[in-house]
Amino acid sequence: MELLKQRIRKDGTVKGNDVLKVDSFLNHQMDVALFEEIGKEFLRRFDGCGVNKILTIEASGIGIACVTAQFFHCPVVFAKKSQTKNITGEVYATKVESFTHGKVYDVIVSKKFLGPRDKVLIIDDFLANGAALEGLIDLVNQAGVQLAGAGIVIEKAFQPGGDRLRASGVKVESLARIKSMSEEQGVEFAD
Ligand code: 5GP
Repeated sequence: MELLKQRIRKDGTVKGNDVLKVDSFLNHQMDVALFEEIGKEFLRRFDGCGVNKILTIEASGIGIACVTAQFFHCPVVFAKKSQTKNITGEVYATKVESFTHGKVYDVIVSKKFLGPRDKVLIIDDFLANGAALEGLIDLVNQAGVQLAGAGIVIEKAFQPGGDRLRASGVKVESLARIKSMSEEQGVEFAD
């Protein structure tokens, strides 16, 4: 998606060799007009897949998922990072290791909001090692939900998550795929 790539080139900053900061438009301050274009592009890529629910993970997936859901005319469910030690039988639960914080979170979704009647599109801001996406897919499998695929805004294609998930049969659509990046050279896109 050219508009997104231009924006990353203009406003993204690289930290170290593997963290891209896009908090001026994507995951802190949010450019809602850009989100609208992102939502339209996800619809183009998943149109006709029968999506009736969007699943994301708090916090930075929520804004993108909500704007995207307006084009799919469906609700958004976000998986919550739970502090609760005793998880009851009312939720599906999994563990996700955070790429940016290096912590392992318990992540939950209420059983009320995901079930076999659903066809789910997962939306997230970044795909790196794939832990967040694999956690969400684990929740989807526990709920017996059909998975339409995953829509990712920025995939760091030099990290292994995208290749592994595609090899396992998941339809992963990333709107900007980064081949390499560094503080000196900036960002180079894969396609
Ligand atoms: P993964 O689980 O695929 O390793 O990482 C995905 C999650 O980590 C995303 O939900 C995103 O919040 C965060 N993340 C991964 N890489 C980056 C990055 O380069 N920049 C930012 N801002 N977040 C990232």
